[in-house]
Amino acid sequence: MSELVIKNLHVGIEGKEILKGFDLTIKKGEIHAIMGPNGTGKSTLAYTLMGHPNYEVTEGEIWFKGENILELEPDERSRLGLFLAFQYPVSIPGVTVANFLRSAINSRRRAENPEDKGIPIPEFRKMLKEKMEMLKVDHSFAGRYLNEGFSGGEKKRAEILQMATLKPEIAILDETDSGLDIDALRVVSEGVNALAGPEMGVLVITHYQRLLNYIKPHFVHVMMNGRIVESGGPDLALELESRGYDWIREKVEIEEAA
Ligand code: ADP
Ligand code: MG
Repeated sequence: MSELVIKNLHVGIEGKEILKGFDLTIKKGEIHAIMGPNGTGKSTLAYTLMGHPNYEVTEGEIWFKGENILELEPDERSRLGLFLAFQYPVSIPGVTVANFLRSAINSRRRAENPEDKGIPIPEFRKMLKEKMEMLKVDHSFAGRYLNEGFSGGEKKRAEILQMATLKPEIAILDETDSGLDIDALRVVSEGVNALAGPEMGVLVITHYQRLLNYIKPHFVHVMMNGRIVESGGPDLALELESRGYDWIREKVEIEEAA
């Protein structure tokens, strides 16, 4: 049951419809990639899954682990095991990466058991050390203030570390931002490849085909004009790389005219 089910999702921003009947199911253990030209609604999908108040769901459903999450606040969605990589993009002066991660873990633990006293410090240190080694993150990183003066790659490193410590059941990464230089790309792909497995489902949203040279998705979807217009396996990403999006756009126009 641990899956994300999106059914006939329609979402508007300031009265303008952006998502127009979006359908997708992601199970644990699966890596899905959504690709598509700019302005097709990829980030709108990510923000809507997070529960951003500006995005108005006018029709459709989002289920996660059998719960209708449209009624849940962003933090409740997160505690349920949904992770969105851009959840905390801002810098938090005076809060170190380690402190930030510890409070995120504790908030998750308290959601499960209100009596929880929080993760014991030695246990947290050990866990953090393991995760940092697994992700090849330098020790000193844990003591730095979150996002303060971080490069694009370092922001991604903090996000991936957050993903590693929270162990979400479904992780959503919207990788369309301009900070995705080669270093950031490598951090994201190595992180996803290290963490993905039978206990986690991943949705990678990107308009950079080259990200998929590093992450091997099981399913590739093409999004256009607010919905998925083509789905396939990893071959679809290669086809997009060599042929671009126009052939899909033409196919969709023909189908819509018929
Ligand atoms: P993508 O991530 O695929 O590039 P977005 O989801 O960011 O696309 O944007 C989809 C459409 O929604 C675009 O036409 C964009 O101009 C519009 N849009 C996005 N965010 C806002 C906003 N905050 N207010 C008004 N329109 C927006
Ligand atoms: Mg976007």
